[in-house]
Amino acid sequence: MPSSSAPQLIMVGSIGLDNIRTPAATRENLLGGSASYAAAAASFFTSAGLVGVVGTDFPRRHETLWRRLGINLRGLQRVRGKTFRWSGEYEQNMDHRRTLDLQLNVFADFQPKLPQTYRAAPFLFLANISPELQLRVLDQMTAPRFVMADTMDCWIQQAREGLEEVIRRVDLLTLNESEARLLTGETSLLAAARQILRRGPAQVIIKRGENGSVLFSDIAGIALMPAYPLESVVDPTGAGDTFAGGFIGRLAAAGRVTAVELRRAMLYGNILASFGVEAFSLDRLAQLDGRQIADRIRAFRRMCRQP
Ligand code: AMP
Repeated sequence: MPSSSAPQLIMVGSIGLDNIRTPAATRENLLGGSASYAAAAASFFTSAGLVGVVGTDFPRRHETLWRRLGINLRGLQRVRGKTFRWSGEYEQNMDHRRTLDLQLNVFADFQPKLPQTYRAAPFLFLANISPELQLRVLDQMTAPRFVMADTMDCWIQQAREGLEEVIRRVDLLTLNESEARLLTGETSLLAAARQILRRGPAQVIIKRGENGSVLFSDIAGIALMPAYPLESVVDPTGAGDTFAGGFIGRLAAAGRVTAVELRRAMLYGNILASFGVEAFSLDRLAQLDGRQIADRIRAFRRMCRQP
């Protein structure tokens, strides 16, 4: 998708360098961060503008990759200091991971200032980062038509007040199943989703790792999305962000939020995430094209056909 001077979709979230240990391999200084994965996935469908900050140690080649994907970087700041860093380790089954280290670095005092061309964008994705920062970006938008937010356990535990405000102000909240239980105190995912829907958003997506995801929506009802079966998962890091980016990118491309488009966006998010985990970092997304996406969508539809 070509970079546009007035992107349809704006995203803020972490942009960082990851150290990742899986049972099969260890990799260091990989391009990562929630917004980085999400923007790459969305770029296949719409013009996306990235809001975030990197330090002087951030390799230029990563910006080159985003540009090649057509991502608008006007909202990206480069400041003196170190880039956000995260280290994580996966257990044997790849569905459980431990955070070994997290350094906010330049994100600690990041003051986002949205370029004029970003403020009127109709779609906004607040990818995983502190709720305070998500709100600072939301406040600068003039009248977004659809706002989606992601979060994680550390913000549920440490930034509850800000997170509650985010939840009140967005149209869709996405989180994984353990986070949904942590946030609501409910064991049943349906009960958790209903509680979240009562707090403000008309949609909630609960991600279930290799078990897929579920959309609960006032408009579209409940939509179950199984994960695309893969023989080998190389690195699940960023799967949720890639799903979310593909989802909102597809919705932004459709330009309207209807039951059909929400369900279609689930499908595209799901397929994008399946590609993302086939390699470390953004390596697989960087090689992806529209034909491969279309082929996998077709194969997945065949797998889901009911008698
Ligand atoms: P996911 O696997 O979807 O949870 O996304 C993992 C990505 O999120 C990694 O590339 C990390 O750099 C980034 N990340 C990890 N922890 C945080 C955090 N607390 N806030 C923002 N981004 C994070």
